Amino acid sequence: MTVVGRATTVGLLAGVLGTLGGGMVSLLFRKPSDRVFSSILGFSGGIMLAITAFDLMPESFELAGIGWGIAGLVMGAIVVGFIDLVTPHIHFLSTDKESSKFVRASLLVGLGIAMHNLPEGVAIGAGLISSNRFGAGLGVLMGLHNVPEGLAMSAPLLRVRSSAWRVVAMTTAAGLPTGIGALAGALLGGHSRVALALSLGFAAGAMLFVTCDELIPDAQELRVGHTGTYGIVTGVVVGIVLSTVLGMH
Ligand SMILES: [Zn+2]
Repeated sequence: MTVVGRATTVGLLAGVLGTLGGGMVSLLFRKPSDRVFSSILGFSGGIMLAITAFDLMPESFELAGIGWGIAGLVMGAIVVGFIDLVTPHIHFLSTDKESSKFVRASLLVGLGIAMHNLPEGVAIGAGLISSNRFGAGLGVLMGLHNVPEGLAMSAPLLRVRSSAWRVVAMTTAAGLPTGIGALAGALLGGHSRVALALSLGFAAGAMLFVTCDELIPDAQELRVGHTGTYGIVTGVVVGIVLSTVLGMH
């Protein structure tokens, strides 16, 4: 298989298995308590912080120097910030109490997750161009990060007793853009070292924006005591340990 084919496959697996896994967990356990929900959303955000700071940025700096890496990071944050301005602000949580709005809420949450899966895919695709191990490790970390997101989009559906098939179909669909992002990341990053450094930096900036703008605030909104913050710290630690165990560096 070509590296572009591999990137698309790893992206699809990380996206779909992650969010679908979250959907399955929610079918088994139903709606988690606020304590659990805030912890796992924080955990998901913590993994992102670790990937951005300890995997994507160092790899980008090493490829073409700190200047290109930072340029990519700033571009990624600005692009996502702009998209956030022109589209309705979509959070991972639905705080709607009216049951007729739950399906719509789940669709919006799913759309938000699907959109932010694009840069996560770009990271995986560009990562695989950098090295197989690095890209595959990113795929595992992103997959793990996606599980709480699958859970977040399923929770409102289950409150209106949507069928299991609907949950499966929606969580699968939300994971698909990761494959598209990975294809784009592999194609863009394959041009040159600078293009690769820019792509990794771009993905890092986009992910940093989403984490600070959506995941962490949502985790804090539901917190009981410091559950959100402990979740974030746990996610950072697990992200660093896993990337070391997976031999990404
Ligand atoms: Zn995500």
